[in-house]
Amino acid sequence: MSAVARVNLSAFEQNVSSVVSRVAPAHVWVAIKSNAYGHGMLELADNALRAGAAGLAVLDVPAALRLRSHGITAPLFAWLHGAKTDFVAAVTADIDLGVSSLSHLESIALAGKNARVHLKVDTGLHRNGFPINQWDAVCTRAADLEKSGAIRVVGIWTHLADANTAADNAALDIFDDAITRARSAGLHPELLHAAASPTALRNQRARYSLVRVGIAAYGISPFDDVDGAGLELRPVMTVHGTIESTGTETSIIGAGWFDGVPQVRDGAAWVGASDQQYSVLTVGPQHTVIDGVLPVGTVVDIIGGDGPSAELWAEWRGTIGDEIVTGIPTHVRRIYDR
Ligand SMILES: *Cc1c(COP(=O)(O)O)cnc(C)c1O
Repeated sequence: MSAVARVNLSAFEQNVSSVVSRVAPAHVWVAIKSNAYGHGMLELADNALRAGAAGLAVLDVPAALRLRSHGITAPLFAWLHGAKTDFVAAVTADIDLGVSSLSHLESIALAGKNARVHLKVDTGLHRNGFPINQWDAVCTRAADLEKSGAIRVVGIWTHLADANTAADNAALDIFDDAITRARSAGLHPELLHAAASPTALRNQRARYSLVRVGIAAYGISPFDDVDGAGLELRPVMTVHGTIESTGTETSIIGAGWFDGVPQVRDGAAWVGASDQQYSVLTVGPQHTVIDGVLPVGTVVDIIGGDGPSAELWAEWRGTIGDEIVTGIPTHVRRIYDR
């Protein structure tokens, strides 16, 4: 197994600070869910904050607690909860909690005092969030719980489909209405947030108080019509492997799909070494066969560097760049450099 992932911390910091200045005065919470999209959550958290992120978005409470015990004191936002989520620990650790169900709201209210709650409204994506027809009742209940001192509704948020600007703006109309109704119910949310990378970069209206940016921070474009370089973002992760053996016309890299090499139609992809491209013939579990003879021990760039970008692999596979980098499994050694 020869795959190695290099994570360039200065590229990551540059991307974060570039997004921070582009969306100002809105703040940036960097999404480091899925182990920071495969880059390493604990390794990147500090760098995101140092580069100007105001907080970190982590998906679930256990990840937020790990960051707290790692010494992160910045706001941490967790929004995916289950029946076993430890809200007592979350409230004690001052985690910002996204809430999409009344039962979670009640559990959080029982978990301590002044729990920091962000109520989520569904503005059309139908991927959790309170439906707008329940919103007034939710806000009324939340205002009661706030008066009792159990919770504080610090935020109202939603997630957009990022399909196109017209659809996003229609969703934002619903979001604006939800904010107005929350205020009428007596809530005073300071943190209003809707945008992930695509809308944060392209739709000023969607920025509100803060944006939750993931993929752009890793240097990967969230759009089909432009790559990361076109957005002046730098790729953060590069993956390489080493030639293990050769045939008469082929060479074998000691890394395969088990190590995160994306599987595409035979011959559809290439990898790179010393500015040359080599067609990928087959990707096996632990080996990748390429067209061309290279000396054993040659380092071949599979993602980034002289190889194709994560966006290009995503195009070949019919997916998005997130899946290419998140798909590099944890057994692949990460090397952090600048
Ligand atoms: C993943 C995620 C983000 C970040 O999305 P990107 O498109 O990677 O910027 C923001 N908000 C929520 C709720 C998410 O799940």
